Amino acid sequence: MNFRLGEFHAFSGGGRRFLYTVPSAGIFELDDTSAAVLARLSQGEATQEELLAAADAETIGELYQARIIATTEAFVDPPQPLPDNFPLQTMVMNLTNQCNLSCQYCYEFGEDKVATPEGKPKFMDFETASASVDYLFTQSAGRHGVHITFFGGETLMNFPLLKKVVDYAKQKAADQGRAIDFSLTTNATLLTPAIIEYLSANEIGVTVSMDGDKASHDKFRVFANGKGSYDIIEPRVRELIKEHKTRPIVARVTMTSQAMDVLGTYRHLKNDLGFHEIGFAPVTTSPNRLYSIDNRGLDSVLDQFGVLASEYLDHALRGEHHGFSNVSDTLAELHQGVNKSHPCGAALGLVGVGPSGDIAPCHRFVDSDTHTLGHVSTGIDKAKQNDFLSRGHIQVKTDCRTCFARPLCAGGCHHEAYVRYGDTGHPNLHYCDWIRGWTNICLEIYGAIAAQNPDFLRHFSDRKAAA
Ligand code: SF4
Ligand code: SF4
Repeated sequence: MNFRLGEFHAFSGGGRRFLYTVPSAGIFELDDTSAAVLARLSQGEATQEELLAAADAETIGELYQARIIATTEAFVDPPQPLPDNFPLQTMVMNLTNQCNLSCQYCYEFGEDKVATPEGKPKFMDFETASASVDYLFTQSAGRHGVHITFFGGETLMNFPLLKKVVDYAKQKAADQGRAIDFSLTTNATLLTPAIIEYLSANEIGVTVSMDGDKASHDKFRVFANGKGSYDIIEPRVRELIKEHKTRPIVARVTMTSQAMDVLGTYRHLKNDLGFHEIGFAPVTTSPNRLYSIDNRGLDSVLDQFGVLASEYLDHALRGEHHGFSNVSDTLAELHQGVNKSHPCGAALGLVGVGPSGDIAPCHRFVDSDTHTLGHVSTGIDKAKQNDFLSRGHIQVKTDCRTCFARPLCAGGCHHEAYVRYGDTGHPNLHYCDWIRGWTNICLEIYGAIAAQNPDFLRHFSDRKAAA
């Protein structure tokens, strides 16, 4: 029986050498003995006796167990069956499909929209909302805590319903001795002191969609008359950050070809406005849109992400918080050894519910006839759910089979895949280099923290990584 190299990605951090072991999504520090084994196998296959000339049997056994080295007999991972009944944890409730802004790039209203809202209710009513909450509690049996994220359209256009849902869901959780947690995403245009006070008093997490300073933000985040929304939201955001005392406030930035100043945007949102965390995501679009980011643009974004990641590391080594959530989300997944069968929780532990009560795999598919999985009053059609999950499973994505980033990426967002390739199960091959580059940066940051301030990694033990 001969040995060969297994599947891993080598990286270094803090002056130490590490391997990311792809089949198990583990991180392994390389010592000189293990390095000698890998150096021997990098020259070609070797017998056990030949390896024993380079290292002791225990080291060879450890490397084999971690699948860093393998035998030349083909090892095929057994197929992973879909879970029969995956308990729900998060419901994204689209309280309305109406919005008071007209952002051109919006996946819900823009040129690449998948929603077909014609003939459906524009605002959710309490009957549908309470049935949605009932559905969440029934389908999450066995879990102590559940989460509701309020979404739109513009969420606050249906604020009266939000309050009723919070009361109803809290009572339900209390009756069942369970925990409930709420958050919402908003464009911030309708925030008032009374709403902010309510959100703070009820410990509701808030994410504000905001694209940077006035020049960047007003490129796309405009009212129907074309006027930018920055001047309206800036004082409201300041008030929110000052007065919401119970949860940290998060900004979510959509990057476009015309707004790629990651560093300037981060500094404005963090230092000038005072957001606790800022997360960036490239616009989801077909490639021929003017605001789509091309490969050169993605390289620039990756360089700037690298600068912020280095700052993050400096903070982490001092034990301080840094607000770049793209790093902390990935570090959390690395620390928890996340090894995904699917890119995210869509149609597994998470569903989106539209104003009509239709259930979608996530908020981005809400109101789309093509992607409806069922209704809160009748439940999910298992055949449709299985079809969605089977097509999105990493094991059927042949393009991803040799990619070291697959435990975290698993092919990328189902919605983006649909917009780009017309198939929710298609891997997002247009940004593989970017994903691998970013994963490598995060691995190096992780390695450096593990080597120089390992206590900091405790932050990530319980932290839930972003969906
Ligand atoms: S989509 Fe690309 S980066 Fe993601 S797992 Fe597949 S090959 Fe890797
Ligand atoms: S990654 Fe994409 S498919 Fe998954 S929850 Fe987010 S938007 Fe939906």
